[in-house]
Amino acid sequence: MRIGRYRRSVLRILADEQRHASVDQIHQALRREHPKIRLATVYRTVKILEEAGVLIRLDLGDGVMRYEAADDIRHDHLIDQHTGGVVEFHDERVQALLTSIAARLGYTLTGYNLNLYGSAQATGQGGLPATRPSRIPSPAILAGRAGA
Ligand SMILES: [Zn+2]
Repeated sequence: MRIGRYRRSVLRILADEQRHASVDQIHQALRREHPKIRLATVYRTVKILEEAGVLIRLDLGDGVMRYEAADDIRHDHLIDQHTGGVVEFHDERVQALLTSIAARLGYTLTGYNLNLYGSAQATGQGGLPATRPSRIPSPAILAGRAGA
């Protein structure tokens, strides 16, 4: 059983190479070390890690499921619509606001998905460096309105 070795490799890839990666991207990276690894094995490995709470599944809005290593502190994502770069951020007010909205609706918040989409302002203040290569097509490109 080589699953244990694959798990370590997956975590290393997500830590060192590609912070938000699809199963296909993880598969490609794994094949450098494990040339014969099959896609089904990668799916299984990623699922085990997700169920163990080690990986988090992400939907960044382009229809491709991605995974990242779970952090101690939750963060959310801003996707740069021009570059497709992904900027991570943490703001305690997000969870507080969503918790109060859920409570107003009679619910206890147990989770949420939040993606921001934007373009960097021309002031030189926006456009924080994106986390390493996790570029995704912008929603405009996905909707067939490239250049809009
Ligand atoms: Zn992230």
